[in-house]
Amino acid sequence: MNLILMGLPGAGKGTQAERIVETYNIPHISTGDMFREAIKNETELGLKAKSFMDAGDLVPDEVTNGIVKERLAQQDTDKGFLLDGFPRTLDQAEALAEMLEDLNKKIDAVIEIQVAESVLVERLAGRFICRNCGATYHKIFNPTKVDETCDRCGGHEFYQRDDDKPETVKNRLAVNVKASEPILAFYKEAGLLYPVDGDRDIDAVFADVEKIIAK
Ligand SMILES: [Zn+2]
Repeated sequence: MNLILMGLPGAGKGTQAERIVETYNIPHISTGDMFREAIKNETELGLKAKSFMDAGDLVPDEVTNGIVKERLAQQDTDKGFLLDGFPRTLDQAEALAEMLEDLNKKIDAVIEIQVAESVLVERLAGRFICRNCGATYHKIFNPTKVDETCDRCGGHEFYQRDDDKPETVKNRLAVNVKASEPILAFYKEAGLLYPVDGDRDIDAVFADVEKIIAK
């Protein structure tokens, strides 16, 4: 079972990824882990990637694709894999199709965890901090026990970090939506795209993921 997991930040992709790799006993292949591994092992591509990262530059596709291909050529992927964080561009999606063909493999399903942007903004932009003692809260997941009163110090003044402000979160999501659209269209065209409603509890979302995989 060769899977790609897609979803916007805050959609709960990490939790579902954990469930999938545990349940189906397949390796979780995330770009972050792959880069760290390649750099730690000082592979040729790892060192190349590091030189770009050290210079503060984006790692070019040919280096990223090479690292992905090396990882997908490893034996533990023979029984399946879950790709997470790759492909990030249409070029990468096309390169992935080619490298899988070289490796005699193919993608079985692209699972997209869908959550409305307005819900994601609430999830991602909910964090606020007590100005007096620095205690952090979240409007939905960890509110103060008494409205607008810090549990720890009783303070009434709160603020949000720039990264947690709705405008910043909205911009971040918009960038992600724009980047993922052509990739989702590519897999839809190929008949591989399976959307899942991610605005429900973790078990309900995972039940749908299992149904897709069973097919
Ligand atoms: Zn406080």
